[in-house]
Amino acid sequence: MGVMDRTMRGFFLSELVSGMALTLRYFFKPKVTINYPYEKGPISPRFKGEHALRRYPNGEERCIACKLCEAVCPAQAITIEAEPRDDGSRRTTRYDIDMTKCIYCGLCEEACPVDAIVEGPNFEFSTETREELLYNKDRLLANGDRWEAEIASRLAADAPYR
Ligand code: SF4
Ligand code: SF4
Repeated sequence: MGVMDRTMRGFFLSELVSGMALTLRYFFKPKVTINYPYEKGPISPRFKGEHALRRYPNGEERCIACKLCEAVCPAQAITIEAEPRDDGSRRTTRYDIDMTKCIYCGLCEEACPVDAIVEGPNFEFSTETREELLYNKDRLLANGDRWEAEIASRLAADAPYR
């Protein structure tokens, strides 16, 4: 760009004017940003978020302590201990997930024969300490109770493709 050209552009503030024109053009267009965390974008039915242990509608735990999720987990993040109940059914006495190890691959969910362990839609579970990311069975069941409606609709939406 020649000296004269640069001088004229500076004199007439052409770059400033074209910038303001661009701003004005986008001012009246629909917004592409959202006001997070007050607004949230849509999430895919296959989104892999925070883990949850689900129950049946009667309140009984779905998990039958088969340990398939523990075996398939590539990060060895899951620890399960189990005992038979008085009625002969088998349930976990311990179900821990070390969320600091988890790589959110979803294999535990895929392996589960009864849709007990799932990855829910929650992605807002950052913590200040490592210990808070060591989830136990109570925490996972509480997650399941909290997110059951969203998880059930997500599984239903994804069912035709599984
Ligand atoms: S999502 Fe993957 S890494 Fe995380 S607990 Fe499940 S199987 Fe393990
Ligand atoms: S969560 Fe599913 S795969 Fe894991 S032990 Fe329970 S029933 Fe088996």
